[in-house]
Amino acid sequence: MSIFSKIIAGEIPSYKIAEDENFYSFLDINPLAKGHTLVVPKKEVDYIFDLDDDTLSKMMLFSKKVAKAIEKVVDCKRIGITVIGLEVPHAHIHLIPITSESDMSFKNTRKQFSSQEFEEIASKIREAFE
Ligand code: AMP
Repeated sequence: MSIFSKIIAGEIPSYKIAEDENFYSFLDINPLAKGHTLVVPKKEVDYIFDLDDDTLSKMMLFSKKVAKAIEKVVDCKRIGITVIGLEVPHAHIHLIPITSESDMSFKNTRKQFSSQEFEEIASKIREAFE
């Protein structure tokens, strides 16, 4: 079971953003920016391009809804989207609020937030989620 499957099952806590029958979304614990969010399929598949077409298409549409919610809450120019997947072997999309290209670099120092700050960000994005 991947760490993300444990999060989806509620065995490991997360700052949840949104969920439907196929996907779960939560704040990245080591964020590049305030509001850096992950979208994960409930189906545990390592590599995103091994997902079936239906799940992959729906994952993009779910990510769009999450991105729109983040945009309403976090001061940024737009939401950058990327897939790395070298650390956690469970497909996930990174949604990252950015104002410049360099904000997308995974070489950047990660932001630090208290659990209270994480919860505050998550609850605002949750409220903005339609
Ligand atoms: P990658 O697999 O290279 O896309 O990186 C995995 C991402 O998942 C990193 O940005 C981590 O900070 C994030 N991550 C790992 N474990 C957790 C967790 N328990 N809760 C939230 N985010 C996590």
